[in-house]
Amino acid sequence: MKPNLIALTLALALAAPPALAWSRQGHQLVGEVAERQLSPEALAEVRTLLADEPEPSLAGVSTWADEIRAARSPLGELSKRWHYINIPGKDCDYMPARDCPEGDCVIGAINAQARVLADRSQPKQARVEALKFLVHFVGDAHQPMHAGHPHDRGGNNHQLHYTGKGSPEGEGTNLHGVWDYWVVQSAGLDDAAYADRLMALPAPADPALGADNPAQAWALESCRLIQAEALYPRDRRIGDDYLDQHRPLAEARLRLAGTRLAELLENALAP
Ligand SMILES: [Zn+2]
Repeated sequence: MKPNLIALTLALALAAPPALAWSRQGHQLVGEVAERQLSPEALAEVRTLLADEPEPSLAGVSTWADEIRAARSPLGELSKRWHYINIPGKDCDYMPARDCPEGDCVIGAINAQARVLADRSQPKQARVEALKFLVHFVGDAHQPMHAGHPHDRGGNNHQLHYTGKGSPEGEGTNLHGVWDYWVVQSAGLDDAAYADRLMALPAPADPALGADNPAQAWALESCRLIQAEALYPRDRRIGDDYLDQHRPLAEARLRLAGTRLAELLENALAP
């Protein structure tokens, strides 16, 4: 690659992150961590369902839900509320009729798409879309700011100024964007190395195991982390110390999301 092309590629890679749920890397990691834990039978089912995809892996389809939303396709518009839930109050006191009307939130979406995936009488296309939605939404449900509070739209309206290794000149961002992008991206690892690192973490205990509504348990767990882990920085100016402090939590969430996604797929695709 010519030096000017390298510079351009670098500039694009470092450009302002899109406001889209765990960055591309975060979602790919959830897909990859899940795929590494699937049984051969479930993996074969996944391969069959994704056979016509350009990248027929869980990582390869993990950002499709964001892409259709960004393109404002009919399905993207229909599903735009399925990426998150907002719950008022720091205690995360969830009221379904208020916080997830008509099932139009990440909790309702995971449950609905899991039913479609498990139902072999559904058209193949619907099951393929359900699988692609699930890979993405299980990731979203584990990003704490995707289960944030309505007053600032899950941190989207909480403006911050980040200056650090990733942006030495400094740049405006917001708390949601910092969690979608900077906390993970700033580790500076490529996807394969990062997946290895997540898989090397101790197997996470799963406090939601056996819950009646696991998707609800995952989202409420995310919501409660905002207060418990003091995710709102004291200062509107943040640097690498904020990212370094919270990266272990982000990595634990990605690992847990991948493990839970694998369990969900095992249940939905069991022969
Ligand atoms: Zn999303």
